[in-house]
Amino acid sequence: PIAVIGSTNIDFVVHVSRFPHPGETLHVRTSATGLGGKGANQAVAVAKLGQAVELAGWTGQDMLADMARTTLCKAGVGTRWLLTDAQSGTGRAFITINEAGQNQILVDGGANMAHGAEACPQLSPVLADASMVMMQMEMDPALLVALARQARERNIPVMLDPAPVPASGLPDALYALADIITPNENETRDLTGILPTDRASALRAAEILHARGTGTAIIKLGARGVVYSTIRPTGGEDAQGFIPAFPVRAIDTVAAGDCFNAGLATALAQGQPLGMAVRHGAACGALATTRAGAAQAAPDAAEVAALLAG
Ligand code: ADP
Repeated sequence: PIAVIGSTNIDFVVHVSRFPHPGETLHVRTSATGLGGKGANQAVAVAKLGQAVELAGWTGQDMLADMARTTLCKAGVGTRWLLTDAQSGTGRAFITINEAGQNQILVDGGANMAHGAEACPQLSPVLADASMVMMQMEMDPALLVALARQARERNIPVMLDPAPVPASGLPDALYALADIITPNENETRDLTGILPTDRASALRAAEILHARGTGTAIIKLGARGVVYSTIRPTGGEDAQGFIPAFPVRAIDTVAAGDCFNAGLATALAQGQPLGMAVRHGAACGALATTRAGAAQAAPDAAEVAALLAG
């Protein structure tokens, strides 16, 4: 299976006509509760594509954990290495969206963020039969470095989604331990100082990431598409390329990046060459924008095949 090492949250999503002022109480238009966290989102999106996947991380020991576990199991995500931390609450995100589609988000990392590098032996068993590792930045960076090191020792490729970029940046060691890094526009700017707006600027940013040790950089440009660059092209492949976004009617871009990463990882795990795998990811990301929500917006393999076939 693909091993996703990452966060599990419950999202509290609230739609309002406008954001409240300090001290004000507002009635909301609608509110909903659902599974979130980049780790869980990416794992569910991989499972929906029909690829075996295990999610490794922590929930608390509370009602939210039961809710998260039930949703993950229904989606077909393996939870053997989703451990329970009785000392912390399950991670939660409070997301307010106004009529203009702007959002305000508060995150309590809870159990996701409660474990440092010393907890590496608790999660590393997930690597035993993993074909690939996907990680994001919603866990302690020192723990991610320790786990990426273990993956490298076992020759398991690591795909790092540097989201969100920690205030102090990524640990230096993580760049060289990641085989693939997948920043979006803002993350690329935070990591490299270059806000990518087109193929040329994205490739300049990719060069910086290569110089720090990451062999493959995939720069997600939202509705503008994706630019990829690798220092290790295989079998006559192009080292660089641009995949335009699939034209779709986007209504909600939440988790487009998570579904992109799931599609990319699934295609690579099936042995597709990089350019084709990026195109597969782009199709997944595009389909995710046509539906509301995070994990529940992820497409299945038949939908992706239909979009790829045109
Ligand atoms: P993130 O969600 O991490 O910010 P992006 O918004 O860049 O990531 O989306 C990831 C990928 O999903 C894009 O590179 C693109 O392939 C696809 N995508 C995102 N938004 C759209 C859109 N409006 N139309 C078509 N494809 C999209």
